[in-house]
Amino acid sequence: MLKLSLSIIKSILKIRKPDTNKGTYGHALLIVGCKGKMGAAVVSARACLRSGVGLLTLSVPSKERTILQISIPEAMTIDRKNKEIDYPFFSAIGIGSGLGITKKTQDVLIQLLEEYEQPLVIDADALNIISLNKNLLNKIPKGTILTPHTKEFDRLFGDHISKEERIKSAVKKAKEMNCIIVLKGHKTVITNGTESFQNSTGNSGLAKGGSGDALTGMITAFLASKYTPFESAKLGVYLHGLAADYTLENQSMESMLITDVIENIGYSFK
Ligand code: AMP
Ligand code: MG
Repeated sequence: MLKLSLSIIKSILKIRKPDTNKGTYGHALLIVGCKGKMGAAVVSARACLRSGVGLLTLSVPSKERTILQISIPEAMTIDRKNKEIDYPFFSAIGIGSGLGITKKTQDVLIQLLEEYEQPLVIDADALNIISLNKNLLNKIPKGTILTPHTKEFDRLFGDHISKEERIKSAVKKAKEMNCIIVLKGHKTVITNGTESFQNSTGNSGLAKGGSGDALTGMITAFLASKYTPFESAKLGVYLHGLAADYTLENQSMESMLITDVIENIGYSFK
C-alpha cells in the first residue's frame, strides 16, 4: 500500500487563482444535525468553510436553524423537511454528521439517492441508515466517498476479524461499488478499489467525538471545488490529520478539541 505523503498532496492541491469568484469553488450542501446533535452540524459546517468552498447551505430540521444562523453566519440554511429541495443544483453534497436515524431522516436519504446522480460524501448516521436498509447500497452514485470508522464499516459489510481483513474487504467493496472508501482510524486507508493509500498524518488527540464530522465537511468542500472524489478524499484525510498535528503546538492530545483542529486547517494548507 502507498503512503499518503506531502508530495502527493502538493501535486493535487491547486493554487487559488486571482481571477475567480465564489462560483469557481462550488456550492456545497451538508445534510447534518438533529435535535441534541447540532454540534456535529456546526463542526462539519465550519470545517467545510475552512476548506475553501465557495458557498455552503445546511439542510437541518427547521426548529434548529436558528442555532446555525447565529453560530455560522457564513452559511445558509434550508428546512430539511422541504421535499422541493433541488438536490442536483448543488456542486457537492455531504450527508450524515449528527443526522439521527428517524423514519423522516431515512426518507430524506432515500429521496436524495433517487434524485442525485453525482458523487456524494456519506458518513456516520447516513451509513447507519444504509446498514439498516442494505438495498440502498445499490443506489449509491458512482464516485461516492464513504467514510466509515471500523464499527460503521462492519455494520455495512459484516464483522471482520482483523484490520488486514477489513482493509481487504474495503478494497473489494470500493471496486464492486465504483466508490471511494475512507476506512477511518489510526492510519486511515483510502481506496478506490485499484489504488490504496495509508495516511501519514494525525494523532490520537483525534480519538474523540466530532473528529469524523470535521472530515466530512472538509471532503465535501474539496468535492464542491471540483477536485475528483479520490483527490477530495486524499486532501481531506491528510489535511485533517495535519491540522491535528499542528494543534499539538499549543494543546496536548488530551486537551485538543475538534474546534481547535478546525482553526488549524489554515496552517495545514500553508
Ligand atoms: P469518527 O470516529 O467518525 O469521529 O472519526 C474519527 C476521525 O479521527 C477519523 O478521521 C480518524 O482517522 C481520526 N482518528 C481517530 N483516532 C485516531 C488516532 N488514534 N490516530 C489518528 N487519527 C485518529
Ligand atoms: Mg463519525
